[in-house]
Amino acid sequence: MIEHYPFGHAPMTSRAVSFWLHSQDLTFQSESALPPQADVVVIGGGITGICTAYWLSQLGIRPVVLERGHLSCGATGRNGGHCVFGANQSFKASVEDIGLEETLAVWDFTEQSSQLLQEVTHRHSIDCDLRFNRLVAFAMTPAQAQAIQDNCDVMRSHGLEATYWTQAEVYQQTQCSAFLAAGVKPHHGQLWPAQLVVGLAKAAQHQAHIHTQVEVQAVTRQGKDLHITTNQGQIQTQAVVYATNALAYHLLPNLKEVIIPVRGQVVATAPTAPLFDFDWLLNDGYEYAIQRQDGRIIFGGMRWKSPTKEVGIEDDTTLNPSVSEGLKAFLRDTFTPLRDIAIEYEWTGIMGFTADENPIVGELPNRPGEYISAGYTGHGMALAIAAGKAIAERITGSAQTPIPKAFRPERFGLG
Ligand SMILES: Cc1cc2nc3c(=O)[nH]c(=O)nc-3n(C[C@H](O)[C@H](O)[C@H](O)COP(=O)(O)OP(=O)(O)OC[C@H]3O[C@@H](n4cnc5c(N)ncnc54)[C@H](O)[C@@H]3O)c2cc1C
Repeated sequence: MIEHYPFGHAPMTSRAVSFWLHSQDLTFQSESALPPQADVVVIGGGITGICTAYWLSQLGIRPVVLERGHLSCGATGRNGGHCVFGANQSFKASVEDIGLEETLAVWDFTEQSSQLLQEVTHRHSIDCDLRFNRLVAFAMTPAQAQAIQDNCDVMRSHGLEATYWTQAEVYQQTQCSAFLAAGVKPHHGQLWPAQLVVGLAKAAQHQAHIHTQVEVQAVTRQGKDLHITTNQGQIQTQAVVYATNALAYHLLPNLKEVIIPVRGQVVATAPTAPLFDFDWLLNDGYEYAIQRQDGRIIFGGMRWKSPTKEVGIEDDTTLNPSVSEGLKAFLRDTFTPLRDIAIEYEWTGIMGFTADENPIVGELPNRPGEYISAGYTGHGMALAIAAGKAIAERITGSAQTPIPKAFRPERFGLG
């Protein structure tokens, strides 16, 4: 039986509406009868789960994807639309924490994602508004300006391109006096994540069985066999991929203190005249914005307005009014042309944070056949497609894509 709904199911109407999920042709046909067995079970129908299923399909495997809601109903359909190539931390901070070699491995991994995004969207004619731009990181304080200058110096000393803008140069570019300085990276991307997911799901469907509205309740082991218990029956497999982002600990309790749910909030303005020919961040990435080709500005962050910084919150059906006010006031007060801008969409979503800001990608220690890719700390768009490929290759024994050591599950002593 086949259901015909956008994303495989009607979007939940009680949620604050994400611009990315609001309309367009996101129709996807979900299968309903679960098979008793599967080569591989992928849990989660966001960018990680669908990319992994796509690469498994390319390698001749027939994965079963189980998604408790509809495709992209988690962070993938509720984010800021940036593809940040490079480490989550600044280059300098990453070199200090994990060393130059590993930092470059992380950068290569995200550059590979950039290549893969271009290849798969071209190969399957997926129109997900993927485009590349400069990324400008603005400084609001002298300390941030100094940190940006130091980071640019370190990047350049290792042959990477980075430009420092003084306050006068920032003003020239933005006509805005709120920023003290900026760092500019030449390679950055923006995209419509839910469009990518639906496109890849359709491209994988000749091999993959994608089931929405199926919640996995437990994964239990008997020797090499894994039993996946769901609200619609059981499936037996020998390989499972946890693509469950911030909720990973629900099925893997030992991740409770390792991947922490953190709620982010985002607004989308009405379309407006072109204001920025770059994507931007400020406050060390706490705030982030893109202007889409349709003129809308997607602006997120300000969770520091909440006493908890929204840490530990898993509810993406409500908005935080203080964060909401902060986001709107910043846009209207900082940029003169946005003084009266209408906000047409506003939503929240749940990120999965790790202590070192790197994701967890690979086979879980002492759990053969159980793989995870999660904990992207708010940066999954430039990681998930290469991570999905790396995991699919390891499941099929055809590994080509190196996983940076900084992403290994072992570093958190799991097992
Ligand atoms: C507000 C916000 C802004 C962000 N901005 C950016 C950005 O600009 N750039 C960027 O790169 N990243 C950003 N991110 C992070 C990015 O969205 C995530 O890293 C990425 O979407 C993670 O994808 P995923 O597929 O791993 O997780 P998700 O998209 O969360 O998917 C996990 C899926 O698993 C399903 N699931 C969970 N448990 C079960 C279960 N037991 N059974 C069945 N299904 C289950 C969920 O329903 C969900 O659909 C942002 C995130 C948020 C919330």
